[in-house]
Amino acid sequence: MKIYELNASEIHKGLRHKDFSAREVAQAHLYRIEQTDKDLKAFVTVTTEQALRAADAVDAKMSRGEELHPLSGIPVAVKDNMCTTGVKTTCSSKMLESFVPPYTATVVNKLEQAGAVVLGKTNLDEFAMGSSTENSAFFTTRNPYDLERVPGGSSGGSAVAVAAGQAVIALGSDTGGSIRQPAAFCGIVGVKPTYSLVSRYGLVAFASSLDQVGPFARTVSDAAWALEALAGHDPLDSTSVPNAPVDWSQPLDKGIRGLKVGVPREYFADGMEPAVVKSVREAIKVFECLGAEISEISLPHTSYALPTYYIIAPAEASSNLARFDGVRYGFRAEGATNQEELISLSRSQGFGPEVKRRIMLGTYALSNGYYDAYYGKAQKVRSLIKQDFDNAFSQVDIILSPTSPTTAFKVGARVNDPLSMYMADLCTFAVNLAGIPALSLNCGFVEGLPVGLQLMGKAFSEMMLLQAAFAYEQTVKLPQLPVFKGGLPNV
Ligand code: GLN
Repeated sequence: MKIYELNASEIHKGLRHKDFSAREVAQAHLYRIEQTDKDLKAFVTVTTEQALRAADAVDAKMSRGEELHPLSGIPVAVKDNMCTTGVKTTCSSKMLESFVPPYTATVVNKLEQAGAVVLGKTNLDEFAMGSSTENSAFFTTRNPYDLERVPGGSSGGSAVAVAAGQAVIALGSDTGGSIRQPAAFCGIVGVKPTYSLVSRYGLVAFASSLDQVGPFARTVSDAAWALEALAGHDPLDSTSVPNAPVDWSQPLDKGIRGLKVGVPREYFADGMEPAVVKSVREAIKVFECLGAEISEISLPHTSYALPTYYIIAPAEASSNLARFDGVRYGFRAEGATNQEELISLSRSQGFGPEVKRRIMLGTYALSNGYYDAYYGKAQKVRSLIKQDFDNAFSQVDIILSPTSPTTAFKVGARVNDPLSMYMADLCTFAVNLAGIPALSLNCGFVEGLPVGLQLMGKAFSEMMLLQAAFAYEQTVKLPQLPVFKGGLPNV
């Protein structure tokens, strides 16, 4: 087995047994990036020197006989909307193309403190707005299962880095599906934690009442280690919760006998690709064989999730993105003769079309006379969506659905049709609106492309979701690490 094929627990074991050093692990992954990223384009910045320095620090620690954290020496990739001191943080936008933050996001700090080795920053849809990574101002990331297809988004670069063996774990952010949907398209595990479980300090804000940071990994157990390291109160983020009731000491292999599983009929309706629905239904049968009790449930306000999200998210985005004015930091247009012109030119040249669309939608929804009709009403519908989940979780422990209505689509197929792009997250928006946790894991392939199964739970039920996902993963044992179509070397 090659080093880049190993998961975090195997690397941890190998380091302790001195099968290889942390430097060798970092080098193997950096080499893998060098070999594959010309085609995949997952990374915006690769931090080779910092990575080797971090790996050397882990080796030094080991030679002093110190205990290793399970993430020590594990190569990780970070979505480029999380701040890193001294390393560019671009949000894949011309607006921040040369922005070097003076501070580091808490999530990155936490991984570094555990000894993880940050390899670089990954591509995304500009400011995390999109579902395919095609809205990046720099380049489109490609799906390792088929280079002509998108990896999903907005955290497409992070998903691809993990799926293709460039990194073992990666960080993404999920506002309406941006961790789970690319995880589904790339055949890996992606977790959107309960709102407030993970600090958002240093995450460039998109929609503050929806954004959460979470991990990607190829196995459920790696995702669990990463999530445990990321979770926890942060005094620098006033929305992070103190003493979250998640019991990390529970075993992953607890089993799911007697687990009550709800299957919401609204997620199996028209518009879903039949082969995707079939794969998900088969996965549900596996849960049943493992002793779960399956029942059909209803989440009646599901069809309002997309329109509600597309009022609330753009409204919050329009307010968050007001700070990019060409005055304090970021892109500044040339040739302005007064302040108003400076702001207007900088914003029109610095932002791409999707970001502008969101700012206009959001500004309209918040404007005088329309606030109650749009933002106010959307907040009311949001409460109804949350109530649907509250009612469901009084009957069942977890809810299963497809993660996305389709498998990965072709590059270019949806870029000129925003609504069809928005539909890619049809199954994921409601979770963010309700603030609950959810994860996606691979449940099979349709014509060689991965299908994602979504597991949703009540607030702070991350352990239960991970245990259920683990039981499924261990039973089904699907292949990982694609042999890339398009002639990419499997070095
Ligand atoms: N695709 C959704 C959007 O474009 C969700 C993005 C996200 O979760 N960051 O807004």
